[in-house]
Amino acid sequence: MPERPLIGAIEGGGTKTICAIGRSWEEIRDSEKFIVRTSSPEATSARIFDWMRDRSSGSVFSAIGVATFGPIDFATQRLSSTTPKTAWRDYSWPDAIRARFGDVKVVIDTDTNGAGVSEYRWGASQGCQVSVYLTIGTGIGGALLVDGDPIHGMQHPEFGHMFVPRVSDDSFPGICPSHGDCLEGLASGPAIGQRWKTGGAPLSPTHPGWELESKYLALAITNIVAVCSPEMIVLGGGIMLVDGLIEKIHFETKRQLGGYFSPGEFDLNISNYVVLPRLESHSGIIGGFALGLDAATTVA
Ligand SMILES: [Zn+2]
Repeated sequence: MPERPLIGAIEGGGTKTICAIGRSWEEIRDSEKFIVRTSSPEATSARIFDWMRDRSSGSVFSAIGVATFGPIDFATQRLSSTTPKTAWRDYSWPDAIRARFGDVKVVIDTDTNGAGVSEYRWGASQGCQVSVYLTIGTGIGGALLVDGDPIHGMQHPEFGHMFVPRVSDDSFPGICPSHGDCLEGLASGPAIGQRWKTGGAPLSPTHPGWELESKYLALAITNIVAVCSPEMIVLGGGIMLVDGLIEKIHFETKRQLGGYFSPGEFDLNISNYVVLPRLESHSGIIGGFALGLDAATTVA
């Protein structure tokens, strides 16, 4: 049996960039990752590429997959000129990778699309014809997958920038530089920090702020159910690591759905419908692997 192709996987996050190399998703999950603080694209990618080169011990990469923060301009395969991370505007991962590793196949997609693909193939949403992956962390992003493929359309969906109604007397203005009080502006990690003036410290799991957070996320989930009719919604990202939050979201989501949708699916089994990632914190980097694997095994 021929050796499986060697794949490089890169997860480009807003605060840290992660890479790993391997020949299977399990190897990516279990092997050492290299993690650097996301600084300038040149400095960040140079350290990543050095590690990948050393780690590969002279083996040639069949493909490299990049799952990165966005937005991404797919026509040019570059980060968009509108990304709020100004140093990364118009940055081309494919050009940088080929300048270092030669004529290797490179696939780039959003970090949420990558994570959504990995959860479909090897994680929680296996077998779902239509599924949604949401990440709630420094930002809020989402992937809508049909038969395991994330839809792109005009660009790619931006679930975090949907609007949700205000909860009762909440007057926090929101922090999205483009929209103010969109979902990301109200419910992302930085929004929670500014709303409750935590000075960078995390809220304790018993803080009443989590009730409000669960209401906003439940409103977003209700919108997603109404528009996309997914068979499962996977909630990832650092905020979802908070003890008890998923249970609060289940309670609020069931309430918001109002019994309108199929009771058997949504009311009785909400905890099997809105779920945490089965690949846990590895969804993103395994997503990078999945992108690379597809490129390596696709005949051009
Ligand atoms: Zn926004």
